[in-house]
Amino acid sequence: MAFLADALSRVKPSATIAVAQKARELKAKGRDVIGLGAGEPDFDTPDNIKQAAIDAINRGETKYTPISGIPELRKAIAAKFKRENGLDYDWQQTIVGTGGKQILFNALMATLNPGDEVIIPAPYWVSYPEIVSLCSGTPVTVMTRQEDNFKLQPADLEKAITDKTKWFIFNSPSNPSGAAYTHDELKALTDVLLKHPHVWVLTDDMYEHLTYGDFKFATPVEVEPKLYDRTLTMNGVSKAYAMTGWRIGYAAGPLQLIKAMDMIQGQQTSGAASMAQWAAVEALNGPQDFIPRNKKIFEGRRDLVVSMLNQAKGISCPVPEGAFYVYPSCAGLIGKTAPTGKVIENDEDFVTELLESEGVAVVQGSAFGLGPNFRISYATSEEQLEEACRRIQRFCANCK
Ligand code: PLP
Repeated sequence: MAFLADALSRVKPSATIAVAQKARELKAKGRDVIGLGAGEPDFDTPDNIKQAAIDAINRGETKYTPISGIPELRKAIAAKFKRENGLDYDWQQTIVGTGGKQILFNALMATLNPGDEVIIPAPYWVSYPEIVSLCSGTPVTVMTRQEDNFKLQPADLEKAITDKTKWFIFNSPSNPSGAAYTHDELKALTDVLLKHPHVWVLTDDMYEHLTYGDFKFATPVEVEPKLYDRTLTMNGVSKAYAMTGWRIGYAAGPLQLIKAMDMIQGQQTSGAASMAQWAAVEALNGPQDFIPRNKKIFEGRRDLVVSMLNQAKGISCPVPEGAFYVYPSCAGLIGKTAPTGKVIENDEDFVTELLESEGVAVVQGSAFGLGPNFRISYATSEEQLEEACRRIQRFCANCK
């Protein structure tokens, strides 16, 4: 339609939301559907965090805040980076946004010119290429491989860098694969980046607190301090503190970039919701004991799902280090005939047929740029996961 902006033609609607919608429609028709598409913890926000927001409202903290966030939260963010990541940021080098998504959007909006390239390893979070395109940049997808547990190899990063590369987006633990890079794996990538001083790093550490076993999280500037002047370290409270609806994300980086992001935010949403910011202060400064408790629960679910999926005919599922997703391959089912009589030609067919035959909603790998795979979110109860995996096993056995 001529009325709509050209920019709109460059973006796709979110496939994860589309799957959730399809599952809702089937449910409304009375079908028994298990949704494994959710990108959020199924836990409730801890009570102390909720109370901090209630107290803030009762104190009258209901007005506009500074664009980059209340100083109390920005100081808590600087303290968090020091305490947990060993990173030194002055609180003025931090910014609070309405979710990590806005941080990402504003950083790219503030820096991209038409023709600028942004390297995005696949499988990627669905929003990265879309936000890059909306901000006039060119997403450059770099494939990873299942045999490398979906971790980007240094030689592939090297090959993707051109004179036009502006950013490298790094996400560990990853949505959708759950892959998380060890210190050494990350060092191999930062060594490549050191050779290309014009490339900036946007690290999305949103799932930092969700890693399992004795895995130790690492972030680029911690591994390679020489990247400090060209890295934006992004994080948020959504996943670790079960606060997706509060919409608070944050980042720290070079002052000039933070100021540019502040300028954009000032003509856009201004400061994030005041009471949500006070809740985030409590999240970062308050007790952290529920994080290991939640991790234990997620870890048990991961092990259950990986083990049951690997018993399904034609499916192979690596063990991810973190987040709450697994990203199995359905390559063994391509070319087979589903119970409806339809031939499964790709992962989208697999996902559609699985939903049709067994009422299990997952997201096709093609939405995340790498297939034939599919993403399962295990942020749901063990009983539901067990039942869903049983249905997946039955579906696979029934594909001939
Ligand atoms: N980054 C990744 C990798 C995510 O998976 C998500 C949410 O799904 C976000 C960022 C955005 O989080 P927020 O809720 O803070 O906007």
